[in-house]
Amino acid sequence: MKFSVEKLVHGSCRLGLIREAGKNKSVTIETPFCLLYTRAGSVPNLSIDTLSYVQGLPPIAMMPLNLLAEHHESVEEYQKGLAGFTAMKDFLVYCSLQDPSTPVPSGYNEKSNIALWTRGGKTKVDPELFIKVQEAFKADWIQCMGDADTSKQSSKKRSRKAVDSSLIFLDELLQKRKTSKILQNAAIFGSVEGGFSVFDRNRSARETAARGVDGFVIEGFQNDGKDFCQFEDESFTDVLSSTLKHLPEDKPRLMNAVWRPDAIMQAIRAGIDIFDTSYAFVTTGKGNALVFSYDYEKLSVKPSDDGDLCLQASSLTSECGYSINLNDSRFREDFSPILEGCLCYTCKTYSRAYVNHLLNTTELQAGVLLMIHNLQHYLGFFSAVRQALREEKFHLLESLINRQRAVSLER
Ligand SMILES: [Zn+2]
Repeated sequence: MKFSVEKLVHGSCRLGLIREAGKNKSVTIETPFCLLYTRAGSVPNLSIDTLSYVQGLPPIAMMPLNLLAEHHESVEEYQKGLAGFTAMKDFLVYCSLQDPSTPVPSGYNEKSNIALWTRGGKTKVDPELFIKVQEAFKADWIQCMGDADTSKQSSKKRSRKAVDSSLIFLDELLQKRKTSKILQNAAIFGSVEGGFSVFDRNRSARETAARGVDGFVIEGFQNDGKDFCQFEDESFTDVLSSTLKHLPEDKPRLMNAVWRPDAIMQAIRAGIDIFDTSYAFVTTGKGNALVFSYDYEKLSVKPSDDGDLCLQASSLTSECGYSINLNDSRFREDFSPILEGCLCYTCKTYSRAYVNHLLNTTELQAGVLLMIHNLQHYLGFFSAVRQALREEKFHLLESLINRQRAVSLER
């Protein structure tokens, strides 16, 4: 895998290009982009056929290890890796450690292993088992084991330990890679840890970079699976910005979290390149539909007149400001599509009233139709982000996204 920053906007927003992204396929990916989030090896609510209804899918699926690790022997016997096992052979696979949409219980990582919460409960994974699992899974991108069980409340000693054990895990994986044909072909993403300790974060970034990994996963801020924006916490922004200064420019930086659109914009400003679509899944699970606007061209035409923008934002009703809750009885006789102008399969075929009916009768199809819309809308947002960076209009998109959030908070 090769990465280069093609254009730097506002000093820190990176429009980048990943070349030769897969071990067997020559895939090029423009960044910032989001990985296709899966749970237990499947995009939630969608079969591989219904997934094909979604336009603009990314070429790489994210498969968290926690719900898959205990099946590694079956996958090994099948011999076609996770992509073959899950019938997602048209996608590259990134194997992450944890699932960003699921809170990870704290206090269970040890010096020589980390805890994964599988269907059967806690499973301790040490480097030996981790390597065995990864050789069975044959992922294109692998997140190395890391101790991310740190938060703002963690002591300096705890943050230091998280960095130390993560570096040992990385050394063991890189050592094994020298003799493993499967691992040699995979891109290794080192886990940058250290909680909120600037000293340990910087040490983790420098030491991980010195080991020659292909990319970085920045975690350990206690991303606990809620819609959130850690950028509302100033100390988070300071620690992240300091950390990124110690990472090389020519390697991609990944942060997996259920992030609202305004947080995505701030993370891109900080210099993050890769995200995931778990926000679309979490939104769907609440019966919500994404309706925020990313059409920043409207602002560029009339920069001083935000009438259109206010009009759009005034129709938003959920607490996060970017979606509507289709469980609400006021949609019972609303025969318009979820989002006027949306070209997704759901909006072209069904009405808000019908999805409201499906939700109220707990029909599984409600999740299918909502997921198709939410996924396509979220991917469309990332496409707008890249376009805005290319056209040097990122600030306009940022203003549009932030304004919608602000308007919803004012009400
Ligand atoms: Zn739609």
